[in-house]
Amino acid sequence: MQIFNTKVGWKEEFIPQQPGFVRAYVCGPTVYDYCHIGHARTYINFDVLKRYMMASGLEFLHVQNFTDVDDKITARAVEAGLAPLALADRFIEEYFRDMDALNVKRATVYAKASDYIPKIVGITEDLLKKEAAYRSGNTVFFDVGRAGGFGELVKDIEGSVKDRLEKGTKRGPFDFVLWRQGGENEQAWESPLGRGRPGWHTECVAMAITNLGETLDIHWGGMDLIYPHHECEAAIAKALTGKTFVRYWLHNNFVLMTGKKMSKSTGRLVYIRDVLKRHSPEALRLFLLSKNYREQIEYSEERLAGAERSLESIMGGARAAMDWGRGPEMSDCVKEYSGMFFNALDDDLETGQTLALLERLSWEMTGGSKGKDFTGAAKIYDAAESILGIRLGR
Ligand SMILES: [Zn+2]
Repeated sequence: MQIFNTKVGWKEEFIPQQPGFVRAYVCGPTVYDYCHIGHARTYINFDVLKRYMMASGLEFLHVQNFTDVDDKITARAVEAGLAPLALADRFIEEYFRDMDALNVKRATVYAKASDYIPKIVGITEDLLKKEAAYRSGNTVFFDVGRAGGFGELVKDIEGSVKDRLEKGTKRGPFDFVLWRQGGENEQAWESPLGRGRPGWHTECVAMAITNLGETLDIHWGGMDLIYPHHECEAAIAKALTGKTFVRYWLHNNFVLMTGKKMSKSTGRLVYIRDVLKRHSPEALRLFLLSKNYREQIEYSEERLAGAERSLESIMGGARAAMDWGRGPEMSDCVKEYSGMFFNALDDDLETGQTLALLERLSWEMTGGSKGKDFTGAAKIYDAAESILGIRLGR
């Protein structure tokens, strides 16, 4: 399979380090609110990649985290009169409710940052010993300059990224927090580094390496995570192990709403559960797969309604295919469709193409083409259900 690796900037053949076995890490949500459609896009597209690789015979170790240590969680918890981790646990449950509704397969391991504090402290102490980190007051910073700089994902950091201001005195403009002192009413743990809490980037490195080993095959997340999150993760891991941290970095693009990125911070968002009051989970899934994961996708009610119509026509095709049976053999015409379907997935997960093929096949089978032999077509719809994860209600 060809897959677009952000690290190199083009499509590469995917070959796992251990034959037949894939180690994958997905950056999960910060759990202080319900998931919106942008989240759904991230997890559904990864779900299809995983389903496709598993259907191709690969075993899959999928680790996904929940960021449950974050200032936004503390702020929401104060409002709700809950302890921060209790609030986080509530939204973890809501995450599962949404993802189960969308037919997203569960990860092998779900890791919560709060369960990895000793590991994170250990990593920070290691980096201090290696002089890849330094203390400034009660904060520990990663020393980007001494650790060898950035460049894993963002090649021209000086030119493309503005400094992110952090509290404390830093040696270099891009240095970032590994451990910060905890104030009153903040999440904090006692540790040899002082009472405090970890930085976000350290959390993901700790959870990834603990569960997957030092070298991952796949690291997946939204494009907004490329910098600073993933660039910083890569810098930490490189300083820590000296080994390749991630072999294939994969990033999905955004869902737009009236031309701008859907996100919590802009208030421009639609929650999954609100869409599911008006539309079927299959239609939402189909809509989010209607373009390749690296392209932007514009959300609107009309597009969702269009997805409902596409779904209906594909379901009609799936029912018609039942009359032709599964074969033992596929007819030539069905073989051609099947070949195109799998070629599209093989080419960097071109899910939009697979859906267009299914629509065309369905149109042909329900009267668009007369006199063709569609024996075995049911197998293509079987693949649509098992790989694209769209239930066709047969
Ligand atoms: Zn992460």
